[in-house]
Amino acid sequence: MKYKRILLKLSGEALMGERQYGIDPQRLAEYAAEIKQIHDKGVEIAIVIGGGNIFRGVAGASNGMDRVQGDYMGMLATVINGMALQGALEEAGMQTRLQTALKIEAIAEPYIKRRATRHLEKGRIVIFGAGTGNPYFTTDTAAVLRGIEVGADVILKGTRVDGVYTSDPEKNADAVKFDYISFEDVLAKGLNVMDTTAFTLSQENKLPIIVFDMNKDGNLLKVCEGETIGTTVTI
Ligand code: UDP
Repeated sequence: MKYKRILLKLSGEALMGERQYGIDPQRLAEYAAEIKQIHDKGVEIAIVIGGGNIFRGVAGASNGMDRVQGDYMGMLATVINGMALQGALEEAGMQTRLQTALKIEAIAEPYIKRRATRHLEKGRIVIFGAGTGNPYFTTDTAAVLRGIEVGADVILKGTRVDGVYTSDPEKNADAVKFDYISFEDVLAKGLNVMDTTAFTLSQENKLPIIVFDMNKDGNLLKVCEGETIGTTVTI
């Protein structure tokens, strides 16, 4: 395996499957099966999951809600997704721990870096919920932050597109995919990989990001084996 310890970022919207809202149990089971393939190979797995399938602070604010209130609701949404994913992973036979940036002691451990790394060493999958615990941030930023903290080798951003393109492939037939691109070139070309805060944090800490299609069978395993899947963003 090319990567020994990974931080997998899944968006909340990915959990919707074909639905318009919420969580698709079928999609959850598929993700659990993909994750099991790399778990069986001994990859240490930390996961950050988004909440966009349930609630986004920005959307609340655009409807007149207080932004900070909305952001905390978004953070709680990520905990719901984290619990759903935890259930699916355990159903598939893996040991997991859910750690949250906001304390919800009846259902999750509070985030403690040393504890999280110990779980990883023991082969438990650690899901980080509630983002960074702060409003005005995103779960992409949480993914990079936790990735750096636990010493992940790479951030794997599992999405429904298969990488970073010269322009939006859904709008432009001429769009070309990058296999590799530098952080600097992403910025110079105005491409969108993650929000600026997350992206800069990754760049400053020299933590590579791989954007890949998580919905394609076996892709996660191939990425961990070092195959050129998706787009790798490096220094
Ligand atoms: N959020 C936040 N702080 C964080 C992470 C998330 O306030 O550190 C809130 C924010 O409102 C965000 C929502 O939680 O819109 C859901 O997270 P995100 O939009 O990143 O989820 P995704 O797009 O990955 O599904």
